[in-house]
Amino acid sequence: MALEIITIPCLSDNYVYLLRDQETGTTAVVDCPDAAPVLAELKKRDWSLDTVFLTHHHYDHIDGVNDLVKATGAKVIGAKADAHRLPPLDTEVSEGDRLKLGHLNIEVLDVSGHTIGHVAYVFHKALAVFTGDSLMAWGCGRVFEGTMDMMWHSLQKFHTLPRAMNVYSGHEYTLSNGKFALTIEPDNPSLHQRMADVAATRAKGEFTVPSGLGLELATNPFMRAGHPKVKTALDMQDATDAEVFAEIRTRKDNF
Ligand code: ZN
Ligand code: FE
Repeated sequence: MALEIITIPCLSDNYVYLLRDQETGTTAVVDCPDAAPVLAELKKRDWSLDTVFLTHHHYDHIDGVNDLVKATGAKVIGAKADAHRLPPLDTEVSEGDRLKLGHLNIEVLDVSGHTIGHVAYVFHKALAVFTGDSLMAWGCGRVFEGTMDMMWHSLQKFHTLPRAMNVYSGHEYTLSNGKFALTIEPDNPSLHQRMADVAATRAKGEFTVPSGLGLELATNPFMRAGHPKVKTALDMQDATDAEVFAEIRTRKDNF
């Protein structure tokens, strides 16, 4: 009943995830900026590809999809709201939709904000959520298309998932995200511990993604904007959670 997940680095700092339901052998990728490294990984394992899950329309998440589909015949799943600017979709999804990879159940979350029509894919049993550029390791995506309020409400959806959930986000930005996080909560020992761990991981050339949702809730300033300690640190005790989130996101944009 297990989900096997292989991380494939692409471009300079993107991650593509190759997924396989071990029971049925059904195989998928989440996002694909470049088909070549994905096709090489499939060939090495002698796997075919059934499905491509897309999180959002940015080129560094979709540019390899057409080549990948041509080579494998995989079916493409992406947000209905984004169908006009994604590669041709075989299945259009929206908030709350249920999908399957082999025997594994998947829930779709609309987590718009970075873009409109950004979705995340939750594999509840496997404790894995594929978040693209919404919730990221120690950070979140820049708010390009939605509003700050929208992004804050999208991130709230991750609070409802189990703490043990693993967050598979789209980029290796963790070290620079952490440097920023420490400017928001310089006195929080959990942040210093994470920085030591992240620096050690990167020094070994290893990935800092996935990260645990519990760790994100404890250290990620974008998940912690509603916390009294964060509000106090920013001298925003009377502000709404969303206002504090907007302040933190704006500071990060200028960091
Ligand atoms: Zn993006
Ligand atoms: Fe991206």
